[in-house]
Amino acid sequence: MEILKYPDPSLLKKCDEVTVFGTELKTLLDGMWDAMLKRGGLGLAANQVGLHFRAFVMGGPDSEKLYIVNPKVVKKSEISANLKEGCLSAPGEFLVLSERSSWIQIDFQNEKGEMLRRVFQGLHAVCVQHEMDHLEGKSHLQSKSIPKALRKVLAKKWGL
Ligand SMILES: [Zn+2]
Repeated sequence: MEILKYPDPSLLKKCDEVTVFGTELKTLLDGMWDAMLKRGGLGLAANQVGLHFRAFVMGGPDSEKLYIVNPKVVKKSEISANLKEGCLSAPGEFLVLSERSSWIQIDFQNEKGEMLRRVFQGLHAVCVQHEMDHLEGKSHLQSKSIPKALRKVLAKKWGL
Protein backbone atom coordinates (compact mmCIF):
# COMPACT_ATOMS: atom_id res chain seq x y z
CA MET A 1 0.00 0.00 0.00
CA GLU A 2 1.25 3.43 -0.94
CA ILE A 3 0.92 6.22 1.61
CA LEU A 4 -0.47 9.35 -0.03
CA LYS A 5 1.07 12.75 0.64
CA TYR A 6 -0.46 16.22 0.69
CA PRO A 7 -2.05 17.65 -1.40
CA ASP A 8 -3.60 14.36 -2.55
CA PRO A 9 -7.40 14.94 -2.64
CA SER A 10 -8.00 11.63 -0.83
CA LEU A 11 -6.63 13.27 2.33
CA LEU A 12 -9.24 16.03 2.20
CA LYS A 13 -12.20 13.69 1.81
CA LYS A 14 -14.44 12.72 4.70
CA CYS A 15 -14.63 8.97 5.34
CA ASP A 16 -17.81 6.88 5.62
CA GLU A 17 -18.99 4.77 8.54
CA VAL A 18 -18.02 1.08 8.35
CA THR A 19 -21.10 -1.16 8.23
CA VAL A 20 -19.65 -4.43 6.90
CA PHE A 21 -17.17 -6.37 9.04
CA GLY A 22 -15.33 -9.41 7.78
CA THR A 23 -12.20 -10.72 6.12
CA GLU A 24 -12.14 -7.98 3.48
CA LEU A 25 -11.97 -5.23 6.12
CA LYS A 26 -9.39 -7.20 8.13
CA THR A 27 -7.18 -7.63 5.03
CA LEU A 28 -7.26 -3.88 4.32
CA LEU A 29 -6.43 -3.03 7.94
CA ASP A 30 -3.56 -5.56 7.93
CA GLY A 31 -2.22 -3.84 4.81
CA MET A 32 -2.47 -0.43 6.51
CA TRP A 33 -0.69 -1.81 9.58
CA ASP A 34 2.21 -3.12 7.45
CA ALA A 35 2.47 0.16 5.51
CA MET A 36 2.54 2.12 8.77
CA LEU A 37 5.24 -0.06 10.34
CA LYS A 38 7.38 0.10 7.21
CA ARG A 39 7.40 3.91 7.47
CA GLY A 40 7.89 3.95 11.23
CA GLY A 41 4.58 5.67 12.00
CA LEU A 42 2.41 5.39 15.12
CA GLY A 43 -0.93 5.69 13.35
CA LEU A 44 -2.40 5.58 9.85
CA ALA A 45 -5.91 6.49 8.68
CA ALA A 46 -7.74 4.81 5.79
CA ASN A 47 -7.81 7.88 3.54
CA GLN A 48 -3.99 8.08 3.78
CA VAL A 49 -3.93 4.99 1.56
CA GLY A 50 -6.87 6.08 -0.62
CA LEU A 51 -9.61 4.19 1.26
CA HIS A 52 -12.62 6.08 2.53
CA PHE A 53 -13.97 4.27 5.53
CA ARG A 54 -13.82 5.41 9.14
CA ALA A 55 -10.93 3.38 10.48
CA PHE A 56 -7.32 3.78 11.48
CA VAL A 57 -4.54 1.57 12.77
CA MET A 58 -2.37 2.52 15.72
CA GLY A 59 0.42 1.03 17.79
CA GLY A 60 -0.97 0.89 21.34
CA PRO A 61 0.69 1.82 24.65
CA ASP A 62 2.05 -1.75 24.94
CA SER A 63 3.02 -1.70 21.25
CA GLU A 64 -0.09 -3.78 20.57
CA LYS A 65 -1.80 -3.72 17.21
CA LEU A 66 -4.97 -1.63 17.41
CA TYR A 67 -7.57 -1.51 14.65
CA ILE A 68 -9.95 1.32 15.45
CA VAL A 69 -13.18 1.42 13.47
CA ASN A 70 -15.99 4.03 13.70
CA PRO A 71 -14.38 5.92 16.61
CA LYS A 72 -16.48 8.37 18.64
CA VAL A 73 -15.26 10.67 21.39
CA VAL A 74 -16.87 9.98 24.79
CA LYS A 75 -14.91 12.61 26.70
CA LYS A 76 -11.55 14.25 26.73
CA SER A 77 -9.30 16.31 28.93
CA GLU A 78 -9.37 20.10 28.84
CA ILE A 79 -5.65 20.10 29.43
CA SER A 80 -3.47 20.28 26.34
CA ALA A 81 -1.08 17.39 25.67
CA ASN A 82 1.54 19.83 24.39
CA LEU A 83 3.32 17.18 22.30
CA LYS A 84 4.83 17.30 18.83
CA GLU A 85 2.96 15.37 16.18
CA GLY A 86 4.08 14.19 12.77
CA CYS A 87 2.25 12.69 9.81
CA LEU A 88 3.25 10.08 7.22
CA SER A 89 1.41 12.23 4.65
CA ALA A 90 3.62 15.24 5.49
CA PRO A 91 7.02 13.68 6.24
CA GLY A 92 9.43 15.80 8.28
CA GLU A 93 6.75 18.22 9.48
CA PHE A 94 6.30 18.27 13.26
CA LEU A 95 3.81 20.53 15.00
CA VAL A 96 2.44 21.11 18.49
CA LEU A 97 -1.32 21.75 18.34
CA SER A 98 -2.78 23.31 21.47
CA GLU A 99 -6.24 21.77 20.87
CA ARG A 100 -4.97 18.23 21.47
CA SER A 101 -6.22 16.89 24.80
CA SER A 102 -3.81 15.11 27.14
CA TRP A 103 -6.21 12.15 27.38
CA ILE A 104 -9.24 11.00 25.44
CA GLN A 105 -11.89 8.33 25.93
CA ILE A 106 -13.38 6.82 22.78
CA ASP A 107 -15.96 4.25 21.81
CA PHE A 108 -15.00 2.24 18.76
CA GLN A 109 -15.30 -1.12 17.08
CA ASN A 110 -12.51 -3.53 16.30
CA GLU A 111 -12.06 -5.33 12.98
CA LYS A 112 -14.67 -7.90 14.05
CA GLY A 113 -17.27 -5.24 14.84
CA GLU A 114 -17.05 -5.71 18.62
CA MET A 115 -17.80 -2.54 20.62
CA LEU A 116 -14.98 -1.29 22.83
CA ARG A 117 -14.36 1.71 25.09
CA ARG A 118 -10.85 2.85 25.95
CA VAL A 119 -8.89 5.75 27.35
CA PHE A 120 -5.66 6.87 25.67
CA GLN A 121 -3.09 9.20 27.16
CA GLY A 122 -0.23 11.41 26.04
CA LEU A 123 1.22 10.53 22.65
CA HIS A 124 -1.49 7.94 22.01
CA ALA A 125 -4.22 10.46 22.85
CA VAL A 126 -2.67 12.90 20.37
CA CYS A 127 -2.44 10.12 17.77
CA VAL A 128 -6.14 9.23 18.19
CA GLN A 129 -7.13 12.90 17.73
CA HIS A 130 -4.82 13.26 14.72
CA GLU A 131 -6.24 10.15 13.02
CA MET A 132 -9.84 11.15 13.78
CA ASP A 133 -9.16 14.49 12.07
CA HIS A 134 -7.91 12.55 9.02
CA LEU A 135 -11.24 10.69 8.89
CA GLU A 136 -12.99 14.09 8.71
CA GLY A 137 -10.70 15.10 5.83
CA LYS A 138 -9.03 17.67 8.09
CA SER A 139 -5.31 18.30 7.95
CA HIS A 140 -3.30 19.10 11.08
CA LEU A 141 -1.25 21.43 8.84
CA GLN A 142 -4.25 23.77 8.64
CA SER A 143 -5.35 23.69 12.28
CA LYS A 144 -6.76 27.00 13.52
CA SER A 145 -4.40 26.84 16.47
CA ILE A 146 -1.39 27.31 14.19
CA PRO A 147 -0.46 31.00 13.86
CA LYS A 148 -1.85 32.41 10.60
CA ALA A 149 1.55 33.23 9.10
CA LEU A 150 2.85 29.69 9.68
CA ARG A 151 -0.42 28.22 8.37
CA LYS A 152 0.14 30.14 5.14
CA VAL A 153 3.69 28.82 4.83
CA LEU A 154 2.49 25.24 5.41
CA ALA A 155 -0.38 25.64 2.91
CA LYS A 156 2.08 26.78 0.25
CA LYS A 157 4.63 24.07 1.03
CA TRP A 158 2.10 21.21 0.95
CA GLY A 159 -0.19 22.57 -1.77
CA LEU A 160 -3.22 23.04 0.49
ZN1 LIG B 1 -1.46 12.10 9.63
